[in-house]
Amino acid sequence: MSTKVRVRYAPSPTGHLHIGGARTALFTYLFARKHGGQFILRIEDTDLDRNVSGAAEEFYNGLRWLGVEWDEGEDIGGKYGPYRCTDRMDIYREHIGQLLKEDRAYYCYCSEEDLAKERDAQIAAGETAKYSGHCRHLTPEQRAAYEAEGRGRTVRLRTSSGETLAFNDMVRGGISFESDGNDFVIVKSNGMPTYNLAVVIDDHLMEITHVTRGEEHISNTPRQMQIYRAFGWDVPEFAHFNLILNEEGKKLSKRDESILQFISQYRDLGYLEEAILNFLALLGWSPGTEEEIFSKQELIERFSFERVNKSGSIFDQRKLSWMNNHYFKKAELDRIVRLCVPQLQQASRLPATLDEAQEAWVNVLVILHQEKMNSASDIVPLTDLFFADVPELDEESKQVMSEATVQAVLAAFRNQVESAGEAGFTVENMKALIKAVQSETGVKGKGLFMPIRIALTGQMHGPDLNGTIWLLGRERVLKRLSDSLAARQ
Ligand code: GLU
Repeated sequence: MSTKVRVRYAPSPTGHLHIGGARTALFTYLFARKHGGQFILRIEDTDLDRNVSGAAEEFYNGLRWLGVEWDEGEDIGGKYGPYRCTDRMDIYREHIGQLLKEDRAYYCYCSEEDLAKERDAQIAAGETAKYSGHCRHLTPEQRAAYEAEGRGRTVRLRTSSGETLAFNDMVRGGISFESDGNDFVIVKSNGMPTYNLAVVIDDHLMEITHVTRGEEHISNTPRQMQIYRAFGWDVPEFAHFNLILNEEGKKLSKRDESILQFISQYRDLGYLEEAILNFLALLGWSPGTEEEIFSKQELIERFSFERVNKSGSIFDQRKLSWMNNHYFKKAELDRIVRLCVPQLQQASRLPATLDEAQEAWVNVLVILHQEKMNSASDIVPLTDLFFADVPELDEESKQVMSEATVQAVLAAFRNQVESAGEAGFTVENMKALIKAVQSETGVKGKGLFMPIRIALTGQMHGPDLNGTIWLLGRERVLKRLSDSLAARQ
């Protein structure tokens, strides 16, 4: 790439960081890093009614968590700031003044009601609704009269019709529109620039080389091109990313609760950020091979716009689970423990601070379940058995427990646990205790392990038996063995 790449992610601070936004940021970031360019984070808050306080910070936190770092932004500064639209009002005013002075834009005094009437009449006549151009050629006297009346005003761009507005989208190839001569608003009646105006001024002044964003902005691009032209500026390259679809292939609606859509939800549930990053990268980009596991560095090396899908990408929950589980299994135990502890605390299963014994206990708890987890929050449902009474046995378990040797096995195990004392009740020693039961009763294999497991947990399946017994604790083990023996008499 000959020019120095400068790209940006420009979210509107209207809510949480959404998976779609995070993916746009990620693709943009990967492109920047691949080409040794700059990645800029800009807050586009021109729609004052929709701004949510604290939203920008949420974007920063979410992106930092994912490891999508920016080189310039409101919080870290940069040569091209300010990086928030509402802090750039002087810049917009100056540029609007220039367009007005050159008569490339004009004040429009039509009220909302006038415009609605105009639109209704056009639609009734079967025409496409567009601005009639009422204020296009006002004389200075007419304008002065409207001003004197104290009418509200917007600014509209003077456009022409029949002009070809073509660009080569880096993802989609050639896209072309024909201008329709609809003089659109570039400054709202509250004096705020519209998104289309602000984005062009900001992208130009920040020397953005490639404008990257979701495909919902393709239809804004011709308007933006007209604004570039009005200023006499070069148009940057564009890349529009595909839609994210739900499992039925429908556009993901923000209300769709079948999918966790916000990055903060994943963080709060104790997902691993590198797994989410990897998953997001494959949501619309493919390496062209069957490979699916990529580190951030590998993604930087491999990413290209050419391999970004044009059609929508289905949010595949099974793949998400598989990928998260893959990273979970590989992660350091300590890291997983650190993520699991708050989840267990939130579920009131651990106290706010842990003593040494509790630390050791939770370590084993995690060791036993790490293979099965997609996120740290899974530790809670996976470990119910350590926090509840033995459930009612199902038919299959009852069958196992009716075997003739069960009584002897449970009694022998209770004796072993009793005589081992607290000191002998360790994970390491558990195997030996069970082995002793085998020698004493002559029962081995399933006939030995199953009754013990069922008596202690009420279930035929579960995590490693030695660890499970230790986690239950000596007191509870003795009690459950006694209960089970008593129930059989
Ligand atoms: N603020 C816009 C959004 O959140 C960004 C559009 C753009 O990148 O041009 O969708």
